Amino acid sequence: MAEQRGWQVAERYVDDDVSAYNGRVRPEYQRMLADLRSGHVEAVAVWHADRLHRHPRELEEFMEVCTSVNVTLLASVSGDIDLATHDGQFLARILGAVSRKESDDKSRRAKRKHQELAEAGKIAGGGTRPYGYESDKRTIRESEAAVIRECARQLLAGESLRSLCSELEERGVPTVTGAPWKTQTLRRSLMSGRISGQREHHGELFPASEWPAIIGPAETTRIRALLNDPSRRTNRSVRRYLLVRLLRCGHCGEFLVSRPRAGGARGYVCAVGPNFSGCGRISALAEPLEQLVLDAVFYRLDSAELASALTSAPADEDGNEWQRELERSQAQLEELAIMYADREISRPEWRVARAPIEQRITDARKRLSKLTRTSVLDGHVGSGADLREQWTTLPLSRQHAIVSAVLDHVIVGPGRRGLNRFDPSRFQPVWRL
Ligand SMILES: [Zn+2]
Repeated sequence: MAEQRGWQVAERYVDDDVSAYNGRVRPEYQRMLADLRSGHVEAVAVWHADRLHRHPRELEEFMEVCTSVNVTLLASVSGDIDLATHDGQFLARILGAVSRKESDDKSRRAKRKHQELAEAGKIAGGGTRPYGYESDKRTIRESEAAVIRECARQLLAGESLRSLCSELEERGVPTVTGAPWKTQTLRRSLMSGRISGQREHHGELFPASEWPAIIGPAETTRIRALLNDPSRRTNRSVRRYLLVRLLRCGHCGEFLVSRPRAGGARGYVCAVGPNFSGCGRISALAEPLEQLVLDAVFYRLDSAELASALTSAPADEDGNEWQRELERSQAQLEELAIMYADREISRPEWRVARAPIEQRITDARKRLSKLTRTSVLDGHVGSGADLREQWTTLPLSRQHAIVSAVLDHVIVGPGRRGLNRFDPSRFQPVWRL
């Protein structure tokens, strides 16, 4: 296959006799992940996509690694998967769900015991002490519980995991093991069902019977929606460029990407090239544009329109309805994949059936992230001037969260030929609120 495509085989990874499913470590697989991370390989070829992962968590990790280094192609004899598109990621997940179903059938009996424990909300054996609880895993450790509550609040207010971690480090707050805080550690802790008194089993949550909650279940719902949101990128450029994913090309509609000019000045462009799908006809200097957008946002925060848009927001404040809708639709998708695996439906039928379900999932995700976005604005509505004063003291992730709570995007039109100064008339904001 590589030969056919004119690819150079950089490396082979063979894990003989180690099933992807039983959870045992696969040394070669790990080495492949490491090579991906280091940028040593540009694409991955497998016999069949289901040979690569037998667990959704592994698949998610794999996709995360691929995204972080811009590897977009998973090639297999039965067809390629373009991981750069939502469709491709979705297909990878479905293939994962199908192969998991097959393996599940084999080991279902062994799992029944765990399932029973989970449904009874009981503690599973083993593992280190969970953050926020004593080593009996039942008693709340108040000092750590306070950290969890505070981090959850700040995260939902738009703070990034990264800046929360460095704050904890600065304050000398210890982790369970004494190791430094990492975004992954904090992420896992904040996303866990445990801290809202829920027992998790294979992605499902059951009310726990053996330990008390630190935060509410609705908070867990929102934290999960926030951290699972596919549009959330922990992209490095987000930190220096305020308007990433907020500017759209007036010609082709693509998002502009950040790119420094030859002289070092920051800029945004509609990019063309192998990893981009823009038209290359639009660019803008970052500094004056960001200033313009900020002025508009501060002004908007004090406007009557925004205040009324916020008060007419839906009454379901914690998003439980939408979370349920999301879960129902995801279960339906999985059911559909299983019907496909069992050959009850054909591939075209599967494709037709999944479209409305995917639409419902997208809608529910949008609603959930809208709830979180508006809570980013707590305390800022009607006080645009105050916000302007403290603006430069806020971390960029927070700034970005505030701007994107108000602003959906800005359409960037072409510059006028021969005009060398900043021209505000090129920019057309589209408000969210
Ligand atoms: Zn364009």
